[in-house]
Amino acid sequence: MNTVQTIQELQDRVRTARSVGKRIGCVPTMGALHAGHVSLIEAARVETDFVVVTVFVNPTQFGPGEDLSKYPRPLEADLAKCRDGGVDLVFNPDVATVYPAGDATFVEVPSCSQSLEGAHREGHFRGVATVVLKLFNMVLPDVAYFGQKDYQQQLLIRHMVKDLNVPVEIRTCPTIREPDGLALSSRNIYLSDAERRSALVLSQALKIGHAVCTAQKKAPAEARQAMLELLANHPEVKLDYAVIADANTLAEVDVAVPEMVALIAARVGTTRLIDNMLISTH
Ligand code: AMP
Repeated sequence: MNTVQTIQELQDRVRTARSVGKRIGCVPTMGALHAGHVSLIEAARVETDFVVVTVFVNPTQFGPGEDLSKYPRPLEADLAKCRDGGVDLVFNPDVATVYPAGDATFVEVPSCSQSLEGAHREGHFRGVATVVLKLFNMVLPDVAYFGQKDYQQQLLIRHMVKDLNVPVEIRTCPTIREPDGLALSSRNIYLSDAERRSALVLSQALKIGHAVCTAQKKAPAEARQAMLELLANHPEVKLDYAVIADANTLAEVDVAVPEMVALIAARVGTTRLIDNMLISTH
């Protein structure tokens, strides 16, 4: 496995792989890799011949007062996980490589950026869309892998790729969870033991929302109510939103549609967590 910092070295190696007929898979990450990231690497290994993992903590997707400066950056451990996972190339650029002085163009994807995470994290999705398009143009992958964990993000990237005719196939891989249901996240390391126990209510609320819509066959409005009732028992969990939405448009639904998604975001202590669960009623 090779690790490169410059776009030139990256593209030389990717071009060499492509010249012998290899399909290029890309897994964009901010590092602090866990089993969720590793599942994306595994999917890339199965479907493509040359797997590039990008490790870059993207400053433009953090708002003022968010955790950019304290975001974990355990590069050696990340490289070991990539090596163990059979990654071919790690691209670990510095900020000036991705955003050289004078860089001023940003990508806006208004169809997915306004609600939910977009409403709570101003500028977040503009930063995400911009860095993902930049990374695509640097790596030039055939296929790119994202987690369902960041549901709105993968939808946004799908819209961007379609709207801008970006020649990359997008795959969305299932959310990897701890045995007790907590979705893996690089931010879980911020949680104290008590906060980690409180954080379980997110996945529990999603399961309740799912059960009310499917096993009980009730309307999403009732499912949302059941989620809110459970969350109300945990005042230490500061809710940003808990909704049931159309899985394709993210418009909130009161009446069932075939493909829905329950989405939740909350702060536990100072740590902001998100999670979601697909709900299919057919
Ligand atoms: P991040 O490093 O947080 O930017 O995440 C990089 C990629 O890993 C994104 O596509 C995430 O959606 C994905 N990811 C993060 N957590 C999980 C998880 N628990 N299961 C599956 N994918 C995940």
